[in-house]
Amino acid sequence: PPGDTILRIDAVSVRYGGVVAVDDVSFGVREGEIVGLIGPNGAGKTTLVDAVTGFTSATGRVELLGEDVSALTPHRRTWAGMGRTFQGIELYEDLSVEENVSVGQEAARHGGAHADWSQDEDYLARLFTVLKLDEVRRRPVGELSQGHRQLVSVARALAGRPKLILLDEPAGGLDSTESAWLGQRLRAVRDYGVTILLIDHDMSLVLEICDRVVVLDLGKVIADGPPAAIRTDPKVTQAYLGTS
Ligand code: ATP
Repeated sequence: PPGDTILRIDAVSVRYGGVVAVDDVSFGVREGEIVGLIGPNGAGKTTLVDAVTGFTSATGRVELLGEDVSALTPHRRTWAGMGRTFQGIELYEDLSVEENVSVGQEAARHGGAHADWSQDEDYLARLFTVLKLDEVRRRPVGELSQGHRQLVSVARALAGRPKLILLDEPAGGLDSTESAWLGQRLRAVRDYGVTILLIDHDMSLVLEICDRVVVLDLGKVIADGPPAAIRTDPKVTQAYLGTS
C-alpha cells in the first residue's frame, strides 16, 4: 500500500509570455505509487515536469519528502532524490549501456550525492537485473532495440539513486508488445522502492500500470483518480475529443 506523500505539488503555475502553460496545479504522489500524468498535446505535462525538476521557473511550491525544493537548482533536486528522463532519448550511441548509466551517475554525483556511494557497484548490478539489462550491459546503445534504449534512459535516471523518477514518454516509439514489456519493468522498478510519475501518450500502458492518473488539459488538472474512473470520465473524453 502507498506510504507517505513523497512529492507535493502545490499551486504550481508556469507562464511563457502570455501563455499559462501550467495553471495552478496541485496534487500529491505517495511513496510506492505509480502515478500517470496524461492529457492532450500541449496540455502542459512536460512543462509541469520541468517545473517540478527545476528546469523551468514556476510559481507555487514543490515539496520532496517534506522538504521545500522550490528554490533549488535541478542538480540540487537530483541530490534531494529526484531523477528524470527527457522526451526523446538522448543517449551516447557509441557508448555501452553501462557507460551511459555511469554518465547519469556522474551527473547526480556532481550535484552532491545523497546516497552511500560505496554501495554503488551493488546498486548498479541490482538495477541492471531489475531492468533486465544484464545481457546487454556491454553493448553499444546504438545497436539496441528501441525498447532497450528506453530502458537505458530509465536506468540513467535511476543511477543517482532517486526516491522518485519522472519519466517523460518512456513508451515513445514502442509498439504495443514493447510497451507492455516496458510496463512490467516499470512495475519492477517501483517494487524495487522507487516512486514513479509517468507521462505517456500510450493510454493502455498508463491505465494498466498506474495506481492513479492525473489528467491535465490547458494547463489545469481536470481529473485525478484511479484508472477505472479516468477511463470513463466524460471530462477526460471531452478533452481528448476537443483536440484531436
Ligand atoms: P505534448 O504531449 O505534446 O508533449 P505537453 O502536455 O507536454 O504536450 P507542453 O509541452 O508542456 O505540453 O506545452 C504546454 C504549453 O506551453 C503549450 O501551449 C506550449 O506551446 C507552451 N510551451 C511549452 N514550452 C514553451 C516555451 N519554451 N516557450 C513558450 N511556450 C511554451
